[in-house]
Amino acid sequence: MLLAADWGARGSATIGGAIATNAGGNQVLRYGMMREQVLGLEAVLADGTVISSMNRMLKNNAGYDLKQLFIGSEGTLGVVTRAVLRLRAAAAFTQSALAACADFASVAALLDHMDRQLGGRLATYEVMWRNFYDRTHAVASPPPLPPGQPFYVLVEAAGSDEEGDAAAFEAALGAAIEREMVTDAVLARSGRDRDAFWAVRDNIPALMSLAPIRTYDVSLPIGAMDDYVADVLAAAAQRLDIAQAAVFGHVGDGNIHLVLGLGEYSAARVQAADRIVYERLAPIGGSISAEHGIGSEKRAFLGQSRSEAELALMRHLKAMLDPKGILNPGKVI
Ligand SMILES: Cc1cc2nc3c(=O)[nH]c(=O)nc-3n(C[C@H](O)[C@H](O)[C@H](O)COP(=O)(O)OP(=O)(O)OC[C@H]3O[C@@H](n4cnc5c(N)ncnc54)[C@H](O)[C@@H]3O)c2cc1C
Repeated sequence: MLLAADWGARGSATIGGAIATNAGGNQVLRYGMMREQVLGLEAVLADGTVISSMNRMLKNNAGYDLKQLFIGSEGTLGVVTRAVLRLRAAAAFTQSALAACADFASVAALLDHMDRQLGGRLATYEVMWRNFYDRTHAVASPPPLPPGQPFYVLVEAAGSDEEGDAAAFEAALGAAIEREMVTDAVLARSGRDRDAFWAVRDNIPALMSLAPIRTYDVSLPIGAMDDYVADVLAAAAQRLDIAQAAVFGHVGDGNIHLVLGLGEYSAARVQAADRIVYERLAPIGGSISAEHGIGSEKRAFLGQSRSEAELALMRHLKAMLDPKGILNPGKVI
């Protein structure tokens, strides 16, 4: 069986932390975020009341679904002490490929193409901009594809028919090459090949060459992504003289991570960089936090992604459930 939750912190994240942050990760496209993996939970309120909502059913519309209060609220409304998690049948076989694309229009077209061709088996669609891949590829020797291409896509499908699924995956990728969505590609022929793809994608430590850095986790429509990234990088270069950046993310979920090399670190430069990244999101329907949450760092920008009425209800809930403000004070709201 499979708990469909997988991300870079897989070796250290706890179930409670993953629920509190509604973590996303690498398989959201197919299975959803942590919220979709939780059937029930138990939480302790600020006054010590234990709310036991250990539902085991997929459907339960008996009144308010109280577990949702504690999923993604970053420990500000209660402490999660137990949970009922939804397990799925684990896919027996995974097909994996790394593809290079000449432009972002091809990245978006390839996502649509693979999704249609694979009939619901598309599990992962991770994209690395050149400024990311060129820094991380050396972790694999030799690298799966040579550096220098504008975009790299790590695409995976999961299913149970080893031969049929592999043939369909290869055919879909072949058609993408013929239709010039893809300029170069390599299929994983072994677990080792697949591990090499993921080693490059997960080689976040290589980005420390940009230090001091500021990292961002934003979501926005895929159709707006290319212009948004270009606009942010141009503004960062023009206003803050930021020349170094790396961009990657779960593009299939409309989620990208931007890493800006600040050059020199100061509170004023951080604030200016935050404004450049966040203020462009509301007009295109994006969010200042796709999956990492608000914490204390993004609290000042919450109004960029939520209306006054939404913020007022959040404050009301917080005041009602935690009147003394003892649960994660200073976080989220
Ligand atoms: C290398 C790396 C890669 C990552 N990649 C991703 C990714 O791809 N997608 C993604 O979504 N996230 C990612 N993350 C962040 C990840 O979501 C968190 O690390 C993890 O889910 C949080 O679990 P934790 O146990 O570490 O929680 P902590 O970091 O300890 O806590 C997170 C928050 O939850 C609260 N909390 C913790 N436990 C509870 C509880 N039992 N009840 C109530 N509140 C609680 C804490 O007070 C805190 O506010 C990544 C992190 C790292 C380090």
